[in-house]
Formats: sequence, structure tokens, C-alpha cells
Amino acid sequence: MKVCEVISVGTELLMGQIADTDAQAIGRMLPELGIAHYHRQTVGDNLDRLVGALRLALSRSDVVITIGGLGPTEDDLTREAIAAALSVSLEADESFARVLRQMFATRNLPWVDSQFRQAHRPAGAEFLDNPNGSAPGLWCRRGNQVIVAMPGPPGEFLPMLGGPVRERLIREFGGAETLHSRILKVCSLGESVVEDRLKDLLASTNPTIAPYAKPGEVHLRLTARGDASLLDPMVAEVRRRLGDSVFGEDADTLESVVLALARDRGWKLGVAESMTGGLVGARLTGVPGASDTFAGGIIAYTPAQKVGLLGVSHEVLDGEGPVSSACASAMAEGCREQLGVEFAIATTGNAGPTADVDGKPVGLTYVAVATPDANHVEEFKFRGTRDGNRTRATQAALTLAYRILRG
Ligand code: ATP
Ligand code: MG
Repeated sequence: MKVCEVISVGTELLMGQIADTDAQAIGRMLPELGIAHYHRQTVGDNLDRLVGALRLALSRSDVVITIGGLGPTEDDLTREAIAAALSVSLEADESFARVLRQMFATRNLPWVDSQFRQAHRPAGAEFLDNPNGSAPGLWCRRGNQVIVAMPGPPGEFLPMLGGPVRERLIREFGGAETLHSRILKVCSLGESVVEDRLKDLLASTNPTIAPYAKPGEVHLRLTARGDASLLDPMVAEVRRRLGDSVFGEDADTLESVVLALARDRGWKLGVAESMTGGLVGARLTGVPGASDTFAGGIIAYTPAQKVGLLGVSHEVLDGEGPVSSACASAMAEGCREQLGVEFAIATTGNAGPTADVDGKPVGLTYVAVATPDANHVEEFKFRGTRDGNRTRATQAALTLAYRILRG
């Protein structure tokens, strides 16, 4: 099996100003190509240290991928460092320099001579096309090894990685023992319950199952070596044991699944939010194509607005109060009426952090779902920060919506 090593270049990475999402994307891709990944380095914008990092990587890895430092400015040193690490010269490519000039002219961008740096490459290296920016990538071979250099901005990096680089890596370095993964996503069951129900399966070695706890969800990554079809019986068995708590796979999100289930029934969906102040609506509108199912929402924060916008009765507000099961139900029902939708989700609670409100403790939360047939409410006692409680309330509301729509 070939071994890959990633070198992320940039002082801003070391200073913690940006997160290394590019390296993360490589890490996720390599298993599927059957390429091993044993080391990763991060270095600042410093020529000597970058050359040192490249030499170390070349001493132990077949494929070395660098991220960043390919731009036109003085602190972009990756080209120079690769040439130095390979002991070759840095050559100007006149025809590429013309292409670059032309590109700046057509895009009406001012030309500065430093742009020429981007037309240089270590002797023997090939350029990798960058349709989303000016700095091309580099494919630099040395014997059986390669250094692949890619620009840092994710808008340029990700298309290059997923396109030409992925293809060439498969062709020249890919292994037979590729890994295939599927992710099953679980809601309304805690991690320990999930692990308990899958105890014997968790010992399996091909495929393997690894649980990851997410806020309000558990994700199960099933990974098979060699043959992707090994995953099918395992997926079926996990689904059998966990039932409808498995809400989706891979790219599915709770909100995308809620929208899809409502769409299947021909229902329109609305939200009435107090404690979550629009967070439920934000997640639903984050799903592409939401507009055919999501009608809109009402943020009714004060008692007066709960009355005015949602028709919650004074009786409920003076009696059980705004943080109550009766208020959550009335908000959901009012939302159905006001927005003319079949399905409504409502949230109300005391997010905290400090004071109890009308004798209602911090964290006490009600989420409600109203359909043409029934009204469902659930009570929670969260114990987090204000942000944490609001996020949990959002997740709880979407989870209840999912369970009701699943039936
Ligand atoms: P440019 O031509 O824009 O200068 P570059 O290839 O020289 O690109 P850098 O200068 O190292 O790349 O980084 C440019 C920007 O790209 C950074 O400010 C950051 O926003 C993003 N970036 C760089 N490295 C990474 C990384 N490893 N993960 C995510 N984003 C990154
Ligand atoms: Mg740069």
C-alpha cells in the first residue's frame, strides 16, 4: 500500500486563525483510494522549515501533498521549497506566463509582475489546471514518488483535489484494498443505547462500525475493505435493530429528511419559534429546494406577540405561562392557522443562563408539533449554556417533527 503525507503551509494555520479544512478533506478521501495516511505536518511560511518538512516527508512517504503557499506574494514559498527539496532549479514557463497575462486581461484584473511567480515550476514538474483561481497546482515526480502542490483557498483546492488529483492518484498510487464507507444517522437514541443494541456488531472487523456522538444524534460509520457490497447486510442489520431511529444516510440531515417526509405527504410546513428565535427555520431553509415545502415562520418572543401573531390565549399565558406545554401546543396550532400550513413546529423555553422565569427553571423547554390530526408536545430539561440549550431545543424540535412524520 502506498503512503501519503500531507503538509499544510501557512503561519495562519499554526496561529489557529483558520482551521485546516483542506487537510481534513484529503484525510477523508485517502481511505477510499486505498492509500495509507500515517503522517501530517503543518509548517509556517518559512523556506527552511518547509524544505525540511518536504525532505522528511520524502524520506517516508510515496505521495506528498502540500496545501497553500502557491500565490504570487513573497510569503508564498511552496514552489521554491519543492525545487530545493528535489534539488532542481525553478524554471519560468513562458507560454504559461502568456496564458496568465491573458487571463488577467480578460478578467479585467490589474497585472503586477509578481504574478509571474505563478508561472514558475520546479524543473520537470507539470502544472495542474486551476479553473477557479490564478495559481496552478504542481505535479512533481521524483522516481516513484510525487509531490503534489495545491493552492490553499478551499474554492480552488477542493475542485482540484476531487477532480484531476483524485484521478491521477487512483491511477498511479491507488491500492486494491480500497475502503468503502457509509454513514447511518440516528436520532432520539443516546450513544450508550445505540452501542448496547449493536454490541456484537461493533466487534466486526470487515466491515467495521464506529459510532460518533453528535449533538442530539449518533452517527455510525460502517467501513468495508475491498468490496463495497459487504456493507449491505450490515446496514440492513443495523436498521433492523434501531428501526426508525435511523433517520438517514451520508448526506441526509434531520432537516432534509423532515422536509422530504412532509413533501411526500403533500404537506406544507411552518415554524413558530420563541426560545430558538429562528434556528429551526434557519436549518430548514438551509436545505436546497426547501421552498416547495417550507412556507415560513413566526418568531414570537414576548407574550404579547404570542397572542398577537399566533393567537395564543391570555388564559394559557396567565395560567400555565409562556414556558409550558399548553403554550407550545397553542403556538403550533396558531402557526398552522396563521400560515395556512398542515404541519407546524413550535418551541418555547427558558434558555438561561441565569434567572428562572415565572418560576420556570433555566433549561425547561417545550417543543410541539401540530398536524391536521393531532398535537404532540414534549418537555425537556436542558442543562447547558444559553447557546447549548437553544441548539438542543432546535434539535429536539426537528427530532419530534421527524418522529411524527415517520408515524
Ligand atoms: P493565494 O493565491 O490565495 O495566496 P495560496 O495557495 O498561496 O493561495 P495561502 O496563501 O497559503 O494559499 O492561503 C490562502 C488562503 O487559503 C488562506 O488565507 C485561507 O483562507 C485558505 N487556506 C490556506 N490553507 C488552508 C487549509 N489548509 N485549509 C483551509 N483553508 C486554507
Ligand atoms: Mg498565498
